[in-house]
Amino acid sequence: MALPMRFDMSNSDGVRKTNRARVMRLIHDSPGVDRTELALSVGVSNAAITNIVNELLRAGLVQEVDSQHSPGARGRKRVGLQIDGTGGYVMGVNVLATNVSIVLADICGSVIDETDVNPTQIRNPDQTLSEIQKTADVVLDRHNVPADRLFGVGFSVAGYLDAESRSLQRAPYLGWPSFDLKRRLQGIFGSIVTIENVTRCTALAENRFGVLSGINDMVLIRSALGLGGAVITAGQLLRGSQNFGGDMGHLLAVPEGPACSCGKHGCLNTVASGWAVMHKLGTTSRSYETVNQFRTQNSQLRLLLDADNARADAVERAMNEAGTALAKHTMTTLQALNPEAVCLTGPLGRHDAYSQAFRDALTAMGLEARIILASETEIITPAMASVYLALSDMVYSPQFNFSQISNIDRVEAASR
Ligand SMILES: [Zn+2]
Repeated sequence: MALPMRFDMSNSDGVRKTNRARVMRLIHDSPGVDRTELALSVGVSNAAITNIVNELLRAGLVQEVDSQHSPGARGRKRVGLQIDGTGGYVMGVNVLATNVSIVLADICGSVIDETDVNPTQIRNPDQTLSEIQKTADVVLDRHNVPADRLFGVGFSVAGYLDAESRSLQRAPYLGWPSFDLKRRLQGIFGSIVTIENVTRCTALAENRFGVLSGINDMVLIRSALGLGGAVITAGQLLRGSQNFGGDMGHLLAVPEGPACSCGKHGCLNTVASGWAVMHKLGTTSRSYETVNQFRTQNSQLRLLLDADNARADAVERAMNEAGTALAKHTMTTLQALNPEAVCLTGPLGRHDAYSQAFRDALTAMGLEARIILASETEIITPAMASVYLALSDMVYSPQFNFSQISNIDRVEAASR
């Protein structure tokens, strides 16, 4: 077979980036792993692994440690590798209607700083994004993060994006219009930004780093004032034709039922969400369609969820009913998706009566899946989920922009 006229640099570069990403992830997941084990896992030669590891060592992204693993054939001590947390940083930005926060973490995922933004006018995206930018600058300055060592910014938002994860399509809780969010964020942070819907972001973080890692078919439902959902099938996020796949809150539950924030009637939000519980208890007389304009309902919900609430018995009953309704109306969807695990999170997912009613009803109806409740198991918070989004999309990823590290160029130039 004839050799190609020219060496395909783009392809070789792609392989190199993919192998580097795999090596970094293996070192992240198994601190102390040695070069021989890496070569076996990645399926490349020892020489190729040595090249990649040397590059990572020079860049200060990994460091050598005494291997925890068994000594080599002649009892020689093996040198293990681990990620050097001081080698780089990621930032997670989390934009919910109730809370906007920024988390700075190192590339091991250890939190360095967590700061609330407290937007003056959350319904104004321009102003809110400017305030996020100001706070991010303060955080980066405070910890002397060099520009070339900030490798990724994960942005999770309470809204749905278009299929390219660029433009915001629907964000009723924030009251933001449709606009090119990615371009706006790239203007602030550069090309290292990755964006995802907040519930999807949590599902991906759990699937890649959390208690659900290794589970390739899962459904995550986040229950707060409204309901959100995300589906991972065969290890991939289910997006759907309009990228609204997994959005459980607007499943039809009661035909011609109460009005929903989406403009339709009888969505699951109106019978099984935090709002539904409040409405049942008479805490709110507003309809769900106006929930966007009444963010104070979130603080009312927080009071209801407080265990010391004077109406604890009534709350318990309403929670029980709403949790049962959630199970009843998602059962057929869950059967069709056939997940290995169903995870219920959010403030209501952490509530015992609601979450246990959900599980009991699904079990009684015969759902065959592990049911994981935030009331019993720690689920990654939305703020941390955006950190993991940055780590998985921009650091432990072929997208990692190794060439942005300026002092590596200096080392290489000096050695020429
Ligand atoms: Zn709806």
